[in-house]
Amino acid sequence: MESTTIINILAFLGTFIAMEGVAWSNHKYIMHGFLWSLHESHHKPRKGRFELNDFFFVFYASVAMVLMYFGYDNLDYRFWMGIGVTAYGFTYFLLHDVFIHRRGKFLDKIDNSYFQAMRKAHKVHHKKMGKEDGEEFGLLLFNKKHFRKQAE
Ligand SMILES: [Zn+2]
Ligand SMILES: [Zn+2]
Repeated sequence: MESTTIINILAFLGTFIAMEGVAWSNHKYIMHGFLWSLHESHHKPRKGRFELNDFFFVFYASVAMVLMYFGYDNLDYRFWMGIGVTAYGFTYFLLHDVFIHRRGKFLDKIDNSYFQAMRKAHKVHHKKMGKEDGEEFGLLLFNKKHFRKQAE
């Protein structure tokens, strides 16, 4: 394999993995911080099809588009970082918005212990209606105590 191919694969995978950390810290320190006014809508029952919190998707999509724009000519590592951000955003949307918050029904049948535990962890995050003292700010990574106990 050419070294640029390896760099591009690492750029994609590294960005995807790093995005879980970015999403976690953004959620903990910014969304539950000075942008709580936007995120608050996500801790209240949704009134229509959209919520103010959806603004964050626009933000991540913009970051992805800027990266892809600058990396487009040679399809270099910046382009693949943009694809990584997009892939994470898409995964987040499917798991967080569709599977957990049921903005669509097509993932309802998933019965896999990892995804069930992820949903449980995120529900713990939503137990708090307020801005302070939250837990479980990530999505794909969470405390393993949320896994169903085996053979009880
Ligand atoms: Zn939150
Ligand atoms: Zn949520």
